[in-house]
Amino acid sequence: MVFEKINTEHSNGFEQIIYCNDSALGLKGIIAIHSTVLGPAVGGCRMWNYANEAEALNDVLRLSKGMTYKAAISNLNWGGGKSIMIGDPKTGKSRALLERFGEYVDRLGGHYVTAKDVGIGSADLKMMKAKTKHVLGIDGEAGSSGDPSPATAFGTYYGMKACAKRAFGSDSLKGLKIAVQGLGSVAFHLIDFLKKEGAFVVGCDVDTVATERAVVKYGIEVVQPESIYDVTCDIFSPNALGAVINKNTIPRIKAKVIAGAANNQLATDDDGMTLMKKGVYYAPDYAINAGGLINIYYEAETPGRYDKDRAYAHIRKIENTISTILERAQTEKMSAHKIADQIVEERLASGKARNGKLQIA
Ligand code: NAD
Repeated sequence: MVFEKINTEHSNGFEQIIYCNDSALGLKGIIAIHSTVLGPAVGGCRMWNYANEAEALNDVLRLSKGMTYKAAISNLNWGGGKSIMIGDPKTGKSRALLERFGEYVDRLGGHYVTAKDVGIGSADLKMMKAKTKHVLGIDGEAGSSGDPSPATAFGTYYGMKACAKRAFGSDSLKGLKIAVQGLGSVAFHLIDFLKKEGAFVVGCDVDTVATERAVVKYGIEVVQPESIYDVTCDIFSPNALGAVINKNTIPRIKAKVIAGAANNQLATDDDGMTLMKKGVYYAPDYAINAGGLINIYYEAETPGRYDKDRAYAHIRKIENTISTILERAQTEKMSAHKIADQIVEERLASGKARNGKLQIA
């Protein structure tokens, strides 16, 4: 039943879906491999108290497809996958459970490589790694690429500059007013770039500790979370939740550019079209926020010898990627996120033709 529903919802199909059950240990997990056309399916493991199995399956499928798109738009030799474990991340973990999950990952022989996601941290990955080498992004390990947030912020900053160039005729952010929604890990690093370039930042967060931290460090102006959409600004930067660009918020947003790191920013495809018709330059989320994934790619490419300079040189190319997307959107009169999807689908098609061997940019 569930599979019939899923297959009609996701037109691209999935290569492999694995259920991982061990009732003695309380393990109930799913590994979804969306695509290995361009390389191994890489994507983190999430532990969450899903209401039921169907909700968990939908989530892991949606997330794994997203990874294929994020890797492909970034010219990485990686496909897309993701895994989930059903349970409370605070109380539901044990060494035995995490090791067992590691065994499931290992059985796939490197076709799926796992990493952190919501509810799974470095300590958990270390336990999985006792059973499989197909784990990336363990903080503090020799050769690890570490926290992805600064890399994500770096890419988002350059993606924002590409948008500014098209919208305002210059890639300089100096003097621009930027409304930043969410002041968490990525936004904190992003604001550093923005302030150094002379932008004026207005921010908000539901968490007072995060807000205070940004005010103390950067002296930003703060508004109530619900008021952020009404701020008169040049750039709106979503860095908190998904679906914040929707039919209720679009009429309120006055910015000419929307560029931020949050995942799944558009509530619907139609919202992308509305932005285009309104003349708003939107940086598709999975293209602009790929810095963290690109960073970890360089940990995997040369195990034990992560090279930050090479990684960041690649992340900077997000500026070109966003620029190309916006240019094509204008020429082809399509929304930016549809153009991004099209570029990915073209890459997947050519990757197939070349038997999965795509050259890195
Ligand atoms: P985070 O949890 O550190 O920060 C998110 C912040 O948003 C938190 O401080 C939270 O309190 C705040 N927030 C939640 N609801 C809010 C609301 N209604 N209004 C204002 N603020 C609100 O997460 P992060 O790692 O900084 O990631 C931010 C976004 O970027 C997420 O959507 C994440 O999925 C996406 N992303 C992050 C990375 C990364 O490298 N960390 C990579 C790609 C995408």
